[in-house]
Amino acid sequence: MSYNQILQHSSHLWISDHTTAQEQTVQSLQNVLCKNNSCQTCTICTQIKTYTHPWTTWLEPQTSYTIDQIDEVIKSVQFTLDAQEFRFFIFTQAEALTTTCCNRLLKTIEEPHHGYHFIFLTDRPQELLPTLKSRCFTKTLQSQSIQHVYHDILEPFITYKFNKPIQFLKLIDKQNIKETATKEIIDLLIEHFYKKLKQTAQESSNHQDLHGYIDIILLLKQALLQLPVQGSSKLFWKNLYLAFDQHQHHVTKTT
Ligand SMILES: [Zn+2]
Repeated sequence: MSYNQILQHSSHLWISDHTTAQEQTVQSLQNVLCKNNSCQTCTICTQIKTYTHPWTTWLEPQTSYTIDQIDEVIKSVQFTLDAQEFRFFIFTQAEALTTTCCNRLLKTIEEPHHGYHFIFLTDRPQELLPTLKSRCFTKTLQSQSIQHVYHDILEPFITYKFNKPIQFLKLIDKQNIKETATKEIIDLLIEHFYKKLKQTAQESSNHQDLHGYIDIILLLKQALLQLPVQGSSKLFWKNLYLAFDQHQHHVTKTT
């Protein structure tokens, strides 16, 4: 979303799947705050990407949002800002705002001081309170496929090449994969290897290959059972990479 589009409205409702919403919100905030055309390299761009920019507050529900979270927001929007200052409050999974939370927020988001902006992200707009929706500038975000967004992360797994562990770790650092995206990526990989398995079974029924694919699928399913909790994505991906690498060595040895 462009600079003007964001700043024209104090409240936004952006509809799309979780990963797209997250990615595009980061991009949009960079469009507004980076002095250098969303350069991706400056401190501001990096802070936005790692959800640590002091002007941005990312909110996440536990199962639903709590009154405490809302009060915290209300408290922090009471001050007037300088003309060049902004604050963005991003409510991820906005459908998890309870009626009580919404009602408490409504007045705040209706006429905030200059510079305060509220962005509600959801893939289930029908579950949002109409009174909240009516106050927002609504936009459906074009979904970038997860395959596209996480192409570099997926690559070693899909090509089955694990000879660059250091580069991979650097990439994981840079991409800062959210826990929710991790599940989507693993799902995608499982789907990919199921297809491979089916294809191999139909074409050649090479037992070694078939077993290889079954092993990989089991490995991924195992990973699904141990999805990262908040803050542990990096370790999760490191472990998965190593598990794949080990599996590959094992396969090479037995063939
Ligand atoms: Zn920048």
